Amino acid sequence: MIYLDNAATTFPKPACVRNAMAQCMNCYAANPGRGAHPLSMRASEALFDARNTLAGFFGADPVRTIFTANCTHAINYALKGVLQKGDHVIISSLEHNAVFRPLYQMKTNGTITFDVAKVVPNDDEQTLQNFAACMNDRTRLIFCTHVSNIFGTELPIRKLAALAHKNGLLFGLDAAQSAGVFPLQMGTDGIDLLCVPGHKGLFGPMGTGALLFGENIAPVSIMEGGTGSLSMQAEQPNEYPDRLESGTVNLPGIVGLAAGIHFLNRAGGCAAVHEWEAFLTNTLKEDLSVIRGVRQFDLVQNKDASLLSFVIDGVSVEETAELLGTCGFAVRAGFHCAALAHTSMGTAETGTVRVSPGFFNTKKQIKNFSFSVNQIAMEKKVC
Ligand code: PMP
Repeated sequence: MIYLDNAATTFPKPACVRNAMAQCMNCYAANPGRGAHPLSMRASEALFDARNTLAGFFGADPVRTIFTANCTHAINYALKGVLQKGDHVIISSLEHNAVFRPLYQMKTNGTITFDVAKVVPNDDEQTLQNFAACMNDRTRLIFCTHVSNIFGTELPIRKLAALAHKNGLLFGLDAAQSAGVFPLQMGTDGIDLLCVPGHKGLFGPMGTGALLFGENIAPVSIMEGGTGSLSMQAEQPNEYPDRLESGTVNLPGIVGLAAGIHFLNRAGGCAAVHEWEAFLTNTLKEDLSVIRGVRQFDLVQNKDASLLSFVIDGVSVEETAELLGTCGFAVRAGFHCAALAHTSMGTAETGTVRVSPGFFNTKKQIKNFSFSVNQIAMEKKVC
């Protein structure tokens, strides 16, 4: 099976990630911070190292780097740990449900209000104006995705961060599709709250993610419990990371995530990964563009996207993905957990087939994929 669904999670994982996780499981998967015996100390050391690795990669303070179960968990922490009753938030029209649903829930229970600013592909100025037009006296936060998980559209995040700060607002980023692919630095990029998955561009395993936040923010816990510190105290500890990290952490996963970041650095960093993925995606764009009946949602004319969406006229996206599956290709069809984005880009009726090449895919695989799409478009049956 040729895996082309890296926007959902990257696969395969590098050998060094699998080996680091196996070594942890085999040799020192004791509970970090929960004992003074040598195995717990070794586990604590690994956790400490991994936190430094992750924080260093994004230019963050390790103490303000919180391990989470995934990007959704990090986003929920960012929103629910920071927003207060009466606050207003501005999000983009390309948000994933990981952003939209928590805010919708908070709005429904009367905690906050929010508005959606339309992203205009290829027109940063208009996009910025749309965000600015949504501001009101209660606005506290601009929160948006960096890269659309359906269309590959890149948002002008540095300009949005500047707009937020100029108006005394916080800027939060869902970097689910960009962490490890686009260079991101908390300070220089003006990011106050950064939410990342460990299991996508950082090459870590599923069950990992992180929230990183600046010194100007003090998120409250949305979940309390054992932290291995101040055990006789009823209140949740005030110090980070303990304040936001209750319960036993996913140490084998976290160790795998750190190994993934080391792999990424050795492979040439974000630039190398991005260059290869964009090359494969552009090759695919070109090949699909000459197939009759194939419509690409290349609305952004983004030369650097590392994923794309398309439909074959007359064939449902589900059937297309199924047929491609029988040809040996794993792609995702449907709405990709982002109703808002489909509504705003006019694909809410059909959904899309999404293809997301990864660092380990080859040009030949992409060529073979286009060949199969061509077959399906011509015959509308299994090749
Ligand atoms: N935001 C975006 C843009 C995504 O693509 C995804 C994953 N599909 C998420 C958030 C949620 O990430 P996770 O699955 O790690 O919770």
